[in-house]
Amino acid sequence: HVKLRGKNGVQLFTPEMGAEARARQETRRCLPGALERGELRLHYQPQCGPRGEVVAAEALLRWTHPLLGEVPPDRFVPVAEDLGLILPLGEWVLREACRQAAEWRARGLTLRVAVNVSPAQLGQADFPDRVLLALRGAGLPPEALELEITERLAVRNVAVAARQLARLGDRGVRVAVDDFGTGQSALASLSRLPLTSLKVDRGFVRDLDEAGHDPAGAARVVQAVAGLAHSLGLTVVAEGVEEAWQFGRVHALGCDLVQGYLLARPLPPAEFERWWRAHERRRPAWLGEERRPV
Ligand code: C2E
Ligand code: MG
Ligand code: MG
Ligand code: MG
Repeated sequence: HVKLRGKNGVQLFTPEMGAEARARQETRRCLPGALERGELRLHYQPQCGPRGEVVAAEALLRWTHPLLGEVPPDRFVPVAEDLGLILPLGEWVLREACRQAAEWRARGLTLRVAVNVSPAQLGQADFPDRVLLALRGAGLPPEALELEITERLAVRNVAVAARQLARLGDRGVRVAVDDFGTGQSALASLSRLPLTSLKVDRGFVRDLDEAGHDPAGAARVVQAVAGLAHSLGLTVVAEGVEEAWQFGRVHALGCDLVQGYLLARPLPPAEFERWWRAHERRRPAWLGEERRPV
């Protein structure tokens, strides 16, 4: 056991916790400069409609450090936010995702690209200008971009968020609330934000039951949330769909789009493109064989 002196005296760390703390510290030390060293990339994960058609792809940030290896975004994004690095990183993500979407369009692969946005980015007074500039720079129409914001952000700074996003919404940029159902109740805030999509958190999808029982109420929650979202004119995306039966089920419960490992894991651009073309070829069979009745 390793003993570290904390603010409130002595804290006891298990060896595992020691490794955790070390990894966090290494992340803080190595993250600055990661962008300049070319260690960051974007992976893309598809969102598909009821017939399996590819409608959108979410851009997900990946960091490979020569010594630390793959560092998951749940670890380094909070550090980037803490160190004030999320502004340049977020800007890069935005530009790179727009560039990639435009490149795919030029090759006849038309989809919308979804980009995660941190609260600090949205808080920038010139955020709408930056987004529009990224779109213009890439030659991408505003409708081809969706910004994903978290419920947390929507609750805290609803007035600021609403103002910033309305400017972009007026131009046609789409706005999704991510991980819906995990934070504080944002129901009141939802109607105040210029949203176009709602992403049902994967926890609800995980709690669905194949046999159709609903002890935890997950099915009723998904159905009610989808109903509410539709009454607000929003597109509903189910996150974390890993099994074939879940695909049919979430559509039956009112979700419009599905994202999850069933379709594809987040993939590097070239692999995503290969997956997409192969998916289009096998889609009819895939629907017939695996999309079971609900
Ligand atoms: P998120 O925006 O909710 O992204 C979805 C996460 O769920 C991704 O994790 C994705 O790989 C994972 N996922 C997708 N399908 C499945 C599935 O079927 N089962 C399971 N168990 N997981 C699935 P990832 O890539 O590790 O990203 C984690 C989080 O990091 C994201 O959650 C997002 O909050 C944040 N993040 C990623 N990229 C960015 C970025 O460019 N900017 C910001 N601000 N945050 C980002
Ligand atoms: Mg997201
Ligand atoms: Mg999510
Ligand atoms: Mg998440």
